[in-house]
Amino acid sequence: MAAGGSSSNVNENIPVFEYKDINTKPFHVGSFRTAWLEKLKPIDYSYEEKYEETEDADFAKEMGIAPETLDELKAICSVDTLRCQAEDEPLDTNVVPSDPTLQTLIQRKKKQDYKGTLRIDKISRVDHYQDELESLAVGKRPEDPVDLVPEGEIILSINVLYPAIFERFKYVRPHMTLQMLGSHSLVDLRDAICCISDLQVFGEFSNTPDMAPDFISKDHFKSAFFYFEGVFYNDMRHPECQDMSETTIDWAKTRDFPTFHKAKMEDTRFYDLKVKVGYPYLFCHQGDCEHVVIITDIRLAHKDDCLDRKLYPLLTHKHRVMTRKCAVCHVYIGRWLTTNDPFAPNDPCLFCERCFRMLHYDKKGNKLGQFLAYPYVDPGAFN
Ligand SMILES: [Zn+2]
Ligand SMILES: [Zn+2]
Repeated sequence: MAAGGSSSNVNENIPVFEYKDINTKPFHVGSFRTAWLEKLKPIDYSYEEKYEETEDADFAKEMGIAPETLDELKAICSVDTLRCQAEDEPLDTNVVPSDPTLQTLIQRKKKQDYKGTLRIDKISRVDHYQDELESLAVGKRPEDPVDLVPEGEIILSINVLYPAIFERFKYVRPHMTLQMLGSHSLVDLRDAICCISDLQVFGEFSNTPDMAPDFISKDHFKSAFFYFEGVFYNDMRHPECQDMSETTIDWAKTRDFPTFHKAKMEDTRFYDLKVKVGYPYLFCHQGDCEHVVIITDIRLAHKDDCLDRKLYPLLTHKHRVMTRKCAVCHVYIGRWLTTNDPFAPNDPCLFCERCFRMLHYDKKGNKLGQFLAYPYVDPGAFN
């Protein structure tokens, strides 16, 4: 796009690569959408099904070919003519010939061979569900037409990486993938990010175990920010929210850094953002829980997308974390961590809610013996 024409003619909001196949130069999301809508006819991004005949006729006209030629091309290019085996052999699409020459088949064979080397002990229900996450919402239409994603709306795909504060996440970078609409504000993304730091409960509750669920970090420490292209977007929805970006901005002023700016997360829609696609940005909450955020794709909504606005932000991928089980029953996920505990086989020791209560309290809920108990939130609790 950048080639040809003087620089004044080039729309700087049409993304071009800054580093090839890695990230684009910064562009304004809303203007990018406007550029699309100006170039396309409404029928191009309409959700309505086009009739095959009219579509064929349009295509033939556009390409300047006769309808008979198109029919012939369709017959030749049809998937029915793609055969790996002889005409008289039955068709089995799962069998890839041993020495394929077609690139797609070479790739498929590689994948099949690799799969053959994996030994799967058990197939988990969660894994099945995970693969379905994305397909579940494909082409979904709302019951009430007012919830229909408007034609010409923009869909952003966003990867949110897990923070590196957990030792085991230092070597792999698991993430969740969300689809957001251009009209969403940054707080919609913030609220959709599910991180265990938000649900951590601080304190020792062996005397009052029933009170523990009321002390969730998310309710106490509400400040958070996103950082995109030199701007800190602070969550200032609540009176107790602090401007977490202030320190960094002040620090940068005394050093040789470009000036950073700030804005409110709740007042910023994705349309208002200037970003690079593929570039790592930052989400920070709970003081120092830092997540890398990467916008991987920005495009117009298509009729095969999930078109129910209520289902957005749409979770399309979530990394599965192994859960730690209760030391007693080995069935339920750990919920309490105890220390100095005469009832426990090791120190510290993890218990599920049920085993914890049965071992440490009598029927009336009185504490038995001396021990310290801390609520525990398992990273895998949201699988
Ligand atoms: Zn976090
Ligand atoms: Zn248990």
